[in-house]
Amino acid sequence: MVAEQIEGRDVDDPLVLEAMRIVPRHRFVPGAFVDLAYADSPLPIGHGQTISQPYVVALMTDLLDVEPCDKVLEVGTGSGYQAAVLAQMGVEVYTVEIVPELATAAAEALEAVDYEVVVAQADGYLGWEEHAPFDAIIVTAAPDHVPQPLVGQLAAGGRLVIPVGPIGAVQTMWRFEVDSTGGLVGENFGPVRFVPFTRSE
Ligand code: SAH
Repeated sequence: MVAEQIEGRDVDDPLVLEAMRIVPRHRFVPGAFVDLAYADSPLPIGHGQTISQPYVVALMTDLLDVEPCDKVLEVGTGSGYQAAVLAQMGVEVYTVEIVPELATAAAEALEAVDYEVVVAQADGYLGWEEHAPFDAIIVTAAPDHVPQPLVGQLAAGGRLVIPVGPIGAVQTMWRFEVDSTGGLVGENFGPVRFVPFTRSE
C-alpha cells in the first residue's frame, strides 16, 4: 500500500506516514480508477486535472513541517486528497480550487469521509486574505512565478511549498520559509511535473 512505497524514500515524519496510511485515497478518485487508488501514480479527476501521485503528496506534506493545530492554506484542491491528508494530521485546512465542479466534488468527498476542511471556489493566486496568516501554504499546480499575495499571507516562520516553472515543461519544487527578519529563504527540491496554475479571466 501507499505508505510502504513512501517509507524509506525521503519522507520520514511519522505524522505524515501515519496520515498516508489512514486516509482512504479510493474515496477521492473517480469510480473508474478505484482499483488503481493505491498505486503510486497520479490519476485523472476530470477537467484536465489530476490527483497527485501519493509520493509527491507525502513529500510536499513533509516539506510543510506542520504540527497539529497549524493553520494551512492549500491552493489547488483538485480531488481533496491532499487536504484530507493534512486534516488527518490535525491541521486546520483551508483550500481553494479554481474549477467550480472540482471544488464542489472535493467538498462532498471530504464531508463524506468526515474531514473538516473549508473549501472555496476561487483563484488561489490571491490566497485567502480573510483567514490569513497561515503557518504554511501548499500550492499543487505550477505557476511560472511565486504569487506575491501568498507570501504576504504567511505567518512569522511560515512555510510555502510550491512547484514553479514554465507551463508544460519541468518545474522545480521550492520550499520557502519566512526567516526572523521577515525575509524569504528558498530551498530547491529538484525537478517535478505539475498541472498548470491557471488564472480566472
Ligand atoms: N491537491 C490536489 C491536486 C490537484 S491538481 C489533490 O490532492 O487532488 C491541481 C489543481 O489546482 C487542479 O484541480 C486545478 O484546477 C487547480 N488550480 C489551478 N490553478 C489554480 C488557481 N489559480 N487557484 C486555485 N486552484 C487552481
